[in-house]
Amino acid sequence: MQCDPCGGELIAIPNRESFQCSNCQRYAFATELDDPAAPIELTGDGVGVCCPKCQVGLQFAVLHDRWRVCFCTACRGYVIDSGCLGVIVHELRAHYRGPDADPVPLNQDELAEQRDCPACAQQMETHPYYGPGTAVINSCSDCKVTWMDHRELASIIRTPGFRHHPDSSLIPVKLNPNPKEIQDRSVETAGKIIVHAATGFIF
Ligand SMILES: [Zn+2]
Ligand SMILES: [Zn+2]
Ligand SMILES: [Zn+2]
Repeated sequence: MQCDPCGGELIAIPNRESFQCSNCQRYAFATELDDPAAPIELTGDGVGVCCPKCQVGLQFAVLHDRWRVCFCTACRGYVIDSGCLGVIVHELRAHYRGPDADPVPLNQDELAEQRDCPACAQQMETHPYYGPGTAVINSCSDCKVTWMDHRELASIIRTPGFRHHPDSSLIPVKLNPNPKEIQDRSVETAGKIIVHAATGFIF
């Protein structure tokens, strides 16, 4: 496969249904944004901060019809409230009826990747997701937000193992009592927004 704009070779990213151009580093995807595995709906509003991977402006979006995230249209990664992530995994794993995925080893290269928190600009912690699967995620314990790469959530949902009953009550989530302001370091406008305006539940 070739990269559309530059003709470079597209390299498959294992277990992520996506590709990266070996020449221009652009991402390409095997699915549409509204793919049922992880449907994303853009609200049309820019967040005013940049993607920690691509330096493209993040967009407000809704994940699985229900969860607010700050989404990057270039790499399809997103920032999500860390507490909400636990609830989403609980809920989606409980309701998932598709086939389990074959277990894949942890990608050691991903553990070495460093990213800055879009909310506070400090370096995030890179670590395996403390739950099912072998996804490597980035989180900021100060801001209580997590960066998820494209299809990381879907791979956690499809990982074999314990699933709660679909009627089980959700893990209670303690919403961040002291939300930090997201600072836009790249543009003069945008200014600041509150993380909770950007990520979390839609009631
Ligand atoms: Zn390219
Ligand atoms: Zn990105
Ligand atoms: Zn932070």
